[in-house]
Amino acid sequence: MVAEKRNLKALSQKELEFFIRDSGLPLYRAKQLIHWIYEKHAQSIQDITEFSIKLRAKLSEMAYIGGITIVNRQASEDGTEKFLLGLHDGESIESVLLPEGNRLTLCISSQVGCAMNCGFCLTGTLGFKRNLEAHEIVDQILTVSRIIEPAKLTNIVFMGMGEPLANFDEVVEALWRITAYMKISPKRITLSTAGIVPKILELPHKAPPVNLAISLNAATDAVRDAIMPINKTYPLRALLAACRRFPLKHRRRITFEYVLLQGVNDSIEDAQRLLSLLRTIPSKVNLIPLNSCEGSAFRRPDDETVLRFQEVLLKGGLTAFIRKSKGQAILAACGQLKAGYR
Ligand code: SAH
Repeated sequence: MVAEKRNLKALSQKELEFFIRDSGLPLYRAKQLIHWIYEKHAQSIQDITEFSIKLRAKLSEMAYIGGITIVNRQASEDGTEKFLLGLHDGESIESVLLPEGNRLTLCISSQVGCAMNCGFCLTGTLGFKRNLEAHEIVDQILTVSRIIEPAKLTNIVFMGMGEPLANFDEVVEALWRITAYMKISPKRITLSTAGIVPKILELPHKAPPVNLAISLNAATDAVRDAIMPINKTYPLRALLAACRRFPLKHRRRITFEYVLLQGVNDSIEDAQRLLSLLRTIPSKVNLIPLNSCEGSAFRRPDDETVLRFQEVLLKGGLTAFIRKSKGQAILAACGQLKAGYR
């Protein structure tokens, strides 16, 4: 019986080492493979020119380097690019490239669809299809890195499709590969969550010390319950307590994202409540005026309301930015990722 070929990218470091040993090769070959796949972006075993032709042939009989395919690439006038990526089972996901000054950030997905069902988010309307595997998470970075060469990604944000902490093990494994294999510093990686409290508490014990962002979006449980169902399981009190326990290095802060919805969470009182909620947490607030999506029950507040909201936070001593929504024309902005699903 011929054993099925192994996708080298789908193997953990341990599994790769077993594979190398079982193939009768010295262990240093595993290190070389990791270097070629994750730093030199080899797409096939034949690309690994450091290996003899004989070794490449031998490895190719047993293994291959899998990948995801770029199904579509769209550029927006503001420089944002959206990639529609095809997975081996025919599902697809989106990643968004965001150039800003000397930063080049890639926003990646952690699941196909999402189960959080937040009322204002288009991805939520897809429902949940499946978790991504660690290599599918990492492959978004490898695929985009390869085609933007010689430019290099400087930052990674887990703010695409899906709830990363609902796919905890694969996301943690991906974080190790991104930091250890691709040598991207955890300081330049941000994981954003709708607020799965036990996993926020577990993350620092399991993963490299990445930055944490919380999609807060409301300053009272009543409002948060109405727009983010996860709040019924993990209400604000528990969420903010978990944030207080999250270990932060010197001068680091937790980012709080706050989507502004007209007449729902955009009043002066909301801003004041937000201020008092975050007073005891080293925090930074990103205000995101709602990006429209078809059939949405919510509306974006006018600019004046947005500025007034920010002013309350600033006067209270909080750092607060208004995020210009990028990539709206190509549905690449926050909450607009749908990967072509109808
Ligand atoms: N599930 C994770 C990762 C997704 S991040 C999380 O919730 O954090 C996506 C961000 O986009 C979240 O902060 C969310 O609040 C925001 N968002 C979702 N829909 C939006 C919309 N229509 N307009 C603006 N921001 C939106």
